[in-house]
Amino acid sequence: MNNEWSEKNKRIQILLAKEATYKDGIELLVELRREMFEQITQIANGYPAKAFYQMPFANAKGYHSKTLAYSIWHIFRIEDIVAHTLIAKDEQIIVIGEYQKKIGSPVITTGNELQGQEIAEFSKKLNIKALYEYAKEVMLSTNTLLAELQYSQMKNGFSDSDKERLAESGCVSQDENARWLIDYWCNKDIRGLIKMPFSRHWIMHIEAMRRIKNKLCKNARKGVDPVGYCGLSCNHCFLGEWCGSCRTKYNVCSFATLYEDKRCPNMVCCSEKNIDGCYECSELENCTKGFYTPDNDGSASAEAQAMFIRKYGKKAFLKVQDKLHERFDFAKTQELLGQDMYEGLKILENEYST
Ligand code: SF4
Ligand code: SF4
Repeated sequence: MNNEWSEKNKRIQILLAKEATYKDGIELLVELRREMFEQITQIANGYPAKAFYQMPFANAKGYHSKTLAYSIWHIFRIEDIVAHTLIAKDEQIIVIGEYQKKIGSPVITTGNELQGQEIAEFSKKLNIKALYEYAKEVMLSTNTLLAELQYSQMKNGFSDSDKERLAESGCVSQDENARWLIDYWCNKDIRGLIKMPFSRHWIMHIEAMRRIKNKLCKNARKGVDPVGYCGLSCNHCFLGEWCGSCRTKYNVCSFATLYEDKRCPNMVCCSEKNIDGCYECSELENCTKGFYTPDNDGSASAEAQAMFIRKYGKKAFLKVQDKLHERFDFAKTQELLGQDMYEGLKILENEYST
């Protein structure tokens, strides 16, 4: 489990346990939820449609055996049900926002009843944009609920009528893999629900989503040229696990994500010129497009690297990168090369000749 999130969560539970620190605990929880939601935003906005229904760990035991789409659906259906039907006793966001129709989901349940290939088939049907909007609305609505809850309510429990209301809502399947949820939630007090569906449950599933996403990126990069259009090495990039490279559909390179079609201007320009990369372009030294935008911190180092590739080729470039990364991390390497593109080129040449 992500150590940072896990530690923060432990601190939150300690703060929530005492009246004097309860409000600080809620504030920290909302902050942690925002931080984790950022991961969902990046995934929902960055990856191609097929990424959401693939199961790269289909036979594994654990949450990473699911899909990205299922994970988002499951986290926020549970939260919506618990926050609204159980705690606030009002209408769920899925109903108010008519999200089932917008998302195209064949079910309104938590999805616990779905197994194996059923999860992939279910995931294929979902409209990811609408699913993301739903998740965001549920997250914000729960944040409001959390801010309104008082310390005195923490020990409030639930009764048989709460169980009946949940069962009647039809939001929990009668399947043996799902029906235990009603007892599980109703046997907790409000503090117990904050501890699981509103925090720990997120951590476990978002962690699993990261594993799925990293594996999909790794698979996408197999056999793909590791040199980016701008001259950066995807093999050495700090975003290597997060980004599938600009030569795949799993491109979440910083400049690409600024554009609706996720295509970096350098990549677009190279394909218009029908060249392999900016290192084949005569305008390289004076170019200010995309990654080479003058106010981009990485522009000079990327240009230096592209100039090196033009002179010595990709094989030499990757060898030099290997050597540099034995001593420096990605950020330091880019800093060294980025003072000035000509100086950066000299550093690379020096490294190559020694
Ligand atoms: S962020 Fe850019 S350099 Fe890094 S892996 Fe993605 S495309 Fe490659
Ligand atoms: S003009 Fe700039 S972005 Fe376009 S191919 Fe040349 S160096 Fe790359």
